[in-house]
Amino acid sequence: MDLVGSICRKPIMVGRSNATSLLRENIFNDLERLELRPISAELDHDCCEVDLQRLHSIALSKSCDGVVAAGGGKVLDAGKLLAHRLGVPCITVPLSASTCAGWTALANVYSPEGAFHHDEVLNSCPELIIFDHGFVRQAPARTLASGIADALAKWYEASISSGSSRDGLIQQAVQMARVLRDQLLIDGPTALRNQDDPAWARVAEACALTAGLVGGIGGARCRTVAAHAVHNGLTQLQGCHQMLHGEKVGYGILVQLRLEEIIGGHQLAGQARRQLLPFLKELDLPINLEDLGLAKASLAELQEVCRFACREGSDIHHLPFPVSAGGLLEALVAAGDIDSTSSERSQNRQKHNDLSEII
Ligand SMILES: [Zn+2]
Repeated sequence: MDLVGSICRKPIMVGRSNATSLLRENIFNDLERLELRPISAELDHDCCEVDLQRLHSIALSKSCDGVVAAGGGKVLDAGKLLAHRLGVPCITVPLSASTCAGWTALANVYSPEGAFHHDEVLNSCPELIIFDHGFVRQAPARTLASGIADALAKWYEASISSGSSRDGLIQQAVQMARVLRDQLLIDGPTALRNQDDPAWARVAEACALTAGLVGGIGGARCRTVAAHAVHNGLTQLQGCHQMLHGEKVGYGILVQLRLEEIIGGHQLAGQARRQLLPFLKELDLPINLEDLGLAKASLAELQEVCRFACREGSDIHHLPFPVSAGGLLEALVAAGDIDSTSSERSQNRQKHNDLSEII
């Protein structure tokens, strides 16, 4: 925290939820003790234009010379984007390990209702990230599980989009994503069961720090492919707005592997998906539409998800084979199936054919 004074003197401090208000008050008091003159500002929504423009005006009127963003991924994204637009330094203080947003030069922008709109590439990473284990331990366990799913996606997305790259940095990023996946598969369940086990720190740092590094050195194509495109599509439905970013991304991994298996013809993807299912289940992460709060979703709503995920310029098109909204719908409904027997496979095929006819 002492370093903040060397970066700015009058930061606007951005936060959101009631659950973190006491922590943020303590951080605010710490900044005042350092003889800084912070301004406190609350977000009303996810990282959205309405909030960003309001906070931009406040920061300008108070002559703020930096941004301190303290919260989860969407608060951190809002703080980074606000700092980027103001042309001032940003300091991130993750209050959970639910995403790697504290260390990335990227911000997702949502509608006030929480629907993904677009992402913006920033000029740089934040000047400083304060990753205090004492803060992060106070977050609900569910945020760490969400962070694990989001970080796992690095491997599944980077390996399919960039696994054959000849660029050295991209190759290193892909291998880092593999090591990250292995560490999460080994340590994840222990970390969730026991915060006092050393595995907790390894996992929390893997989710909030290392995962950000993969995108940092690997570039845009190492960041997101189908798992995040499915997340972006799912955010269009009110029914799953209560789900965390990584919870939707985790389901997106299953959908991506299903696409690789069915459309891409990669047998190993089917095996990878079946191995991942019990792991996600153990971490209480969603493995079917019902878990995502979409048990009653209509076909039209699921089609909306798929249309959004397959829109022009979507990251889903970084897959090495074409995907249509109809093909995605088949994978979306069957991502959680463990169809190891031929009769189940044929039943699923029938289900898919029925859907295809409707589409
Ligand atoms: Zn993510």
